Amino acid sequence: MRERFWEAPLASLSNDEWEALCDGCGRCCLHKLQDEDDDAVFFTDIACHLFDPEQCRCRDYPNRLKQVPDCLSIRAQEDEIYDWLPPTCAYRLRYQDRPLPVWHPLISGRADSVHEAGISVRHRTVSEADVDEEDYEDHIILWIKPQLPL
Ligand code: SF4
Ligand code: SF4
Repeated sequence: MRERFWEAPLASLSNDEWEALCDGCGRCCLHKLQDEDDDAVFFTDIACHLFDPEQCRCRDYPNRLKQVPDCLSIRAQEDEIYDWLPPTCAYRLRYQDRPLPVWHPLISGRADSVHEAGISVRHRTVSEADVDEEDYEDHIILWIKPQLPL
C-alpha cells in the first residue's frame, strides 16, 4: 500500500487500500429508520445478525453479500450510498474530501483508538435476531448523530 494512501482520491485506491480505509467502527452494520414525514434518518442499536458485538466486526466478511442480501459493497454502489453511511465513516469523509479524524486507526496507529474515542459500536448493540420489528423505534440511539445531507 502507498504511504498515506488515505489522502488519495477514493477512486484511485487499490482493493487493499480500500479495505484498510475502514475504521472498524461497525456503525454501518446497524439498522436505520427513516421518518416518513421529513426523511430524517435515525440509527438504532440493532445490529445485523452476522455482526459480532465483542469483536465489532462481521462474522463472515468474505461471504457477507451472499449471507445477507441487504448488505452492500460500498465500492460497487452509486455515489448515493455515501448519504447512508454514518457521518464519521472514513469512506464518507474521504468522499467529501475531508481528512480522517485523529481517532482513526490509520492516523493513531492503533486499532483500539476507534473504540476508546467512543466512535465504535463495540459492546453497544443488540442483534436483530432478538428484536421484533415493531419494537425497532424503541432502539433509536442519539449517540450517533442523525445524518446530515452531503
Ligand atoms: S461505517 Fe464506514 S468506517 Fe465504519 S465500519 Fe462501516 S464502512 Fe467501516
Ligand atoms: S453482513 Fe456483515 S458487513 Fe454486512 S451488515 Fe451484516 S455484519 Fe455488517
